[in-house]
Amino acid sequence: MTILLSTLNARYTHASLGLRYLLANMGELQAQTKIHEFVIGTRAVDIVERVLEHQPRIVGFGVYIWNVEETVKVVALLKRVAPNVTIVLGGPEVSYETEGQEIVRLADYTVTGWGDVTFPQLCRNILHGPKPLMKIHAGVQPPLEDIALPYALYSDEDIAHRTLYVEASRGCPFKCEFCLSSLDKTAWPFDLDRFLGELETLHARGARLFKFVDRTFNLNVKTSLKIMQFFLDKLAAHPDDPVYAHFEVVPDHLPDALKDSIKQFPPGTLQFEIGIQSFNPDVQALVSRKQNNDKAADNIRWLHEHSHAHLHVDLIAGLPGEDIASFARGFDRLVELGPHEIQFGILKRLRGTPIIRHTEAYGLVFDPHPPYAILSTDRITFAEMQELVRFARYWDLVANSGRFAHTLPLILGATPFARFMRLSQWLFARTDATHRIALEKLAALVAQWLAEEGMDAEAAAAVVRSDYAGQANLKKAPVQKQALPQRQARHMAA
Ligand code: SF4
Repeated sequence: MTILLSTLNARYTHASLGLRYLLANMGELQAQTKIHEFVIGTRAVDIVERVLEHQPRIVGFGVYIWNVEETVKVVALLKRVAPNVTIVLGGPEVSYETEGQEIVRLADYTVTGWGDVTFPQLCRNILHGPKPLMKIHAGVQPPLEDIALPYALYSDEDIAHRTLYVEASRGCPFKCEFCLSSLDKTAWPFDLDRFLGELETLHARGARLFKFVDRTFNLNVKTSLKIMQFFLDKLAAHPDDPVYAHFEVVPDHLPDALKDSIKQFPPGTLQFEIGIQSFNPDVQALVSRKQNNDKAADNIRWLHEHSHAHLHVDLIAGLPGEDIASFARGFDRLVELGPHEIQFGILKRLRGTPIIRHTEAYGLVFDPHPPYAILSTDRITFAEMQELVRFARYWDLVANSGRFAHTLPLILGATPFARFMRLSQWLFARTDATHRIALEKLAALVAQWLAEEGMDAEAAAAVVRSDYAGQANLKKAPVQKQALPQRQARHMAA
């Protein structure tokens, strides 16, 4: 074995699509190339030991915002114990602003942007000459039909135990300045029949959990309809062994044809990730995000009322021009629309994104360390931002977890942001922690807070208990075969 492709995934269940693309496109080098994935949290020294067991001549690492801090340690160690092994980096974290990056300095080569063609070519040159002179290689972007698809490289183990990432298109035509995809300026579709053929094979091999990484799945409605029909056909043919499909969609574009298709999906088979980010038109204009807010709100409400889709909606705190009152209004508006989950993200300065043009005018201060989260703006102080960070964490534990389904409306009342912020501050004052709070303790604290807020203590304890009992029953219920993940199952059962 000559070439090892590696990365540190955020979880074992995440199978790296990027590495499989590289392997699929290695050409004559494919037979001597292997993948070995790790999970963040593994000791660097252990990773290096496992990497060297393959006796590689070249190691390619996929570098992302979530693994760069650990990967830099791995690269540094590897260079010390095996200086003859050539290290090539790729991935979004090393595709922009490479100068000054420690990991780029330590590695031999870096491929920026698309690696499908450039990485194999670089390997050929490393192995057979002429020796590449440049350290940084700008990835060539070939026509999509020239790229070998990677899906056959998902192993039976991947299919049985991991989320399968798939993509029907790359890129995004929108220009939201906080997002790396804004640099694409357009979206490129893969040949649909070829792609659906791959999905067919994966399904025949037993795959049931499909996560589309397309940035805007509903861009081309004709294509979206065909893909959804593929899943509807599978659901009709195998009602006792259903699929679960996850798509990222833009919220203000749901024509009737798409709605008709969405309505046909039974519970527990469809998930939409919907980016709202901000409901404030001034903020949207500042970050070049085009969004019809009323249409977006109507569509989320429609999805909530007329479909069984699990709805996960994203908001971002800390955008330029947004203060806490404006964020709170957007949050309350979103809660009222009834999505199952609100992902409350904190703005991050992703390398290469144009958001930095607002740094001075809006006083944006970012953490210099990954994931480069915003620390303060001219409208949100550092202390307030920390409160928002804790809010986001408790929101995940209490609301997004689905463990307090009947208690949540009592917590939120008519002013969800203000009340949840009060709970969040109260919880932090009592626990001094946002992690490792046992569920039982959290439940007791939530009941106590409701009582302190004026609710009858017995009634508060009873509703929290009923959420508990509901979950116990859910666990005991005979499990019908389903592909949907546990948290989504709790939301759907609520
Ligand atoms: S936030 Fe979404 S719509 Fe905007 S550029 Fe990124 S992927 Fe495209």
